[in-house]
Amino acid sequence: MKRLYLLFYLSLVSVLSNAQSPVMEKVSLFTHQQYASLEALYKHLHQHPELSLKEEKTARLMADTLKNLGFTVQEGIGGYGLVGVIKNGDGPTVLIRADMDALPLEEKTGLPYASTAKGINPAGEEVSVMHACGHDIHMTVFVGTALALVAHKNQWKGTLVMVAQPAEENGLGADLMFKAGLYDKIPPPDYAIALHDNASLPAGKVGYRAGAFMASVDMMDIRVFGEGGHGAAPHTTIDPIVLSAAMINTFQTIVSREINPIEPAVVTVGSIHGGTVHNIIPDEVRMQLTLRSYSQEVRNQTIAAIRRITKNMALMAGLPEDKVPVISIRDPQTPATINDVALTERLVEVFRTNLGADNVVEMPPNMVGEDFSRFGLQDQKVPICMFWLGAVDPALVRQTEEEGIDLPSLHSPYFAPLPEPTIKTGIKAMSAAALSLFGK
Ligand SMILES: [Zn+2]
Ligand SMILES: [Zn+2]
Repeated sequence: MKRLYLLFYLSLVSVLSNAQSPVMEKVSLFTHQQYASLEALYKHLHQHPELSLKEEKTARLMADTLKNLGFTVQEGIGGYGLVGVIKNGDGPTVLIRADMDALPLEEKTGLPYASTAKGINPAGEEVSVMHACGHDIHMTVFVGTALALVAHKNQWKGTLVMVAQPAEENGLGADLMFKAGLYDKIPPPDYAIALHDNASLPAGKVGYRAGAFMASVDMMDIRVFGEGGHGAAPHTTIDPIVLSAAMINTFQTIVSREINPIEPAVVTVGSIHGGTVHNIIPDEVRMQLTLRSYSQEVRNQTIAAIRRITKNMALMAGLPEDKVPVISIRDPQTPATINDVALTERLVEVFRTNLGADNVVEMPPNMVGEDFSRFGLQDQKVPICMFWLGAVDPALVRQTEEEGIDLPSLHSPYFAPLPEPTIKTGIKAMSAAALSLFGK
């Protein structure tokens, strides 16, 4: 008898700790049955990555997959962007977005399905290509969610809009899709949701943050001029390499000495090029910077500081007014991603119910950027929520914590998501979110 009580108690605990709705139990079982083909899709995408604005074959695959599931698909929206729409009776319109592009990196994970793909970068050079940001995970979850929602169409009412976006990595894709009139081509969304895999959160968990989630991004180019000459006669020149080095050191004081310490900001010089050979002092150096912040004030303050430092240091080096550095900021500037508070709180409840409260983690804001922000910032205001999807082997997270070493980050050639629990959790979270927003 005692044993029976214990069994009853244990089953009650398991029901209470993971009280999925009956429809989500069906979705989980369905995803489990579909998993082998989803993993095959993931590995295919992983081995066939395409660079930003070159996502031709990836977009073809996404479009064909959505068409086969009964979506009405429109392609070529801002490059290789595409959208699939399914109308399933009266109800809200829920937009789910995934991004498709990969990065110019040589994969070093050593996985049996590692990418050996090559692509052509904007400079026309052949480069290795890798899904080092996990957009292959995003697309697999996107397809798995579409499959699950279509298979359980009798369980929800509304309009499902699935957007596959190109060129997230260079910040151009969402802007291109909206300039091509994305929101004029689809029923107006009531909600837009997306996920991004996370390189420190264990697979099986999701992370959330209401409000400020990711930073704004500016791409800045600086041309520093000098007066070139023989490397053995530096006194007859104004060396732009030495000048650039001094500027870069001074940039380090913008965040540490000028910005209010409680305001997040980043100034990173990611690229510097100047000169040709050992013994020529060149007459120009080019730098590329990324600037991150969460407010327009901090953004303006950072840009003004860079303008002031570069101009005055050039004058101090003896350059004339017409040779002060030229600064340009590339379009488009990516706005900060601010998650709608009410929508996020609603999804957090859904995640807790379906994944278990322990698997839903509040995360700090992050200085990476995401052009998903634009889905909420068009003329038509749409509440948005992007959440983190844990992608790392939980044993590896424990081990690296114990040893005090860092895991490979997103954009690392060593970033290796653990496919099965990541993909299954992603589909469960995204399907549960959509079903809840459809009012199920
Ligand atoms: Zn990325
Ligand atoms: Zn990404």
